[in-house]
Amino acid sequence: MAPLSTLPEPDPGLGEYLYALVERLYPLCRSITGDGLRETLAIVSEYVPLAIREIPTGTRAFDWTVPKEWNVRDAYIKDSAGRRVVDFKQNNLHLVSYSVPVHKTLPLEEIKAHLHCLPEHPAWIPYRTAYYSEDWGFCLSHDAMQSLEPGTYEVLIDSRLEEGSLTYGEYLLPGRGKDEVILFAHTCHPSLGNDNLSGIALLVYLARHLTLGQRLRYSYRFILAPATIGSVVWLSQNSSGLHRIKHGLVASVVGDPGHLRYKRSRRGHAEIDRAALQALKDSGKKYEVLEFSPWGYDERQFCSPGINLPVGRLTRSPNGAYPEYHTSGDNLDFVRPEYLVDSLHIYTDVLRILENNCYFLNTSPQGEPQLGRRGLYRKTGGQQEIEEHQLALLWVLNLSDGKHSLLDIAERSGLSFKRLCRAAEDLLQCRLLTLAF
Ligand code: ZN
Repeated sequence: MAPLSTLPEPDPGLGEYLYALVERLYPLCRSITGDGLRETLAIVSEYVPLAIREIPTGTRAFDWTVPKEWNVRDAYIKDSAGRRVVDFKQNNLHLVSYSVPVHKTLPLEEIKAHLHCLPEHPAWIPYRTAYYSEDWGFCLSHDAMQSLEPGTYEVLIDSRLEEGSLTYGEYLLPGRGKDEVILFAHTCHPSLGNDNLSGIALLVYLARHLTLGQRLRYSYRFILAPATIGSVVWLSQNSSGLHRIKHGLVASVVGDPGHLRYKRSRRGHAEIDRAALQALKDSGKKYEVLEFSPWGYDERQFCSPGINLPVGRLTRSPNGAYPEYHTSGDNLDFVRPEYLVDSLHIYTDVLRILENNCYFLNTSPQGEPQLGRRGLYRKTGGQQEIEEHQLALLWVLNLSDGKHSLLDIAERSGLSFKRLCRAAEDLLQCRLLTLAF
């Protein structure tokens, strides 16, 4: 049996399906707990068989505690004529997430202390949260703020903050072994497209795509949980199994036009870091590598010093680095199918490298083996194709002494991982190569 795993290229047409899922999830009012989050995971379960976990309010998770569950039925600000001048039902970004219940009539001046807008982008509604402070507020465009007349307004926030639970979902796709690759996306943002619905859609289609793989070496665990508290809770609930995690990636902001950016794990040069860099280099497209910092998404928790897992982050424009970030500008027009599928390609390439980063032994290491006699010199294809394949055969044979992995050979030779993989397959076929271990 050939030892290498196979994972086909994703179909370029998948971009439309990824986008359709983003579109479907977009209207839901998600937060770090509550029914919008549950409904999101229920929809995802139609695509992949998620195991849904409910962790009760008050559960300790390292230095954190699962908060009260938040749900909202309605919220608005009404003028004296009874018109809703700010309406949660029209856009869920209008309400500060985790706002406590309020029903008051107040003068505009008093309400203003609870209003948020973005003068630098006057048409956009900002996204704000009040998770761990008992507060309330509304977000609106600067233009809408300017148009509010002095006077009194009715403020209603029909929300509930009560004992409940935090919901997360996970899906384990078993491979040949128990060693795991984890893929994490946060699930707590309301109507925002790139951050974070693009990450959810990417993981859903990656999970489905991996089922087309053959002889997968790793088991793949997909985790969909709220940011920060969700990954902290997941880690604390699963601490006995963390030794099985060999590699991981945090996915979000993968649907915008920006180029791909890989943020290294805390370890800096873990196999996942090298695999991601190799895949990006091989893509021939523009990319950027960011050093680790304890800021960003849930890689902060996976890379906290007491956990220190080899988990990097692969995004397009990073958090905070594009103007639409955390505003109503991050909408269904900002996310595009072609960028979603381009990101899916790179994720697939990274996983293919991890799957096939094996150590081999050259079975005829004294002098070069005669390749022509074994039909290994390809005669078809362009001149460059033929030459590169020959070079790849020679590099794999030369460094396959049981001490160099295929990724080592890629880094040293400058050849693409796919090229070296094809050479290794040919050499395995004619028994000039065997798996070292
Ligand atoms: Zn965010």
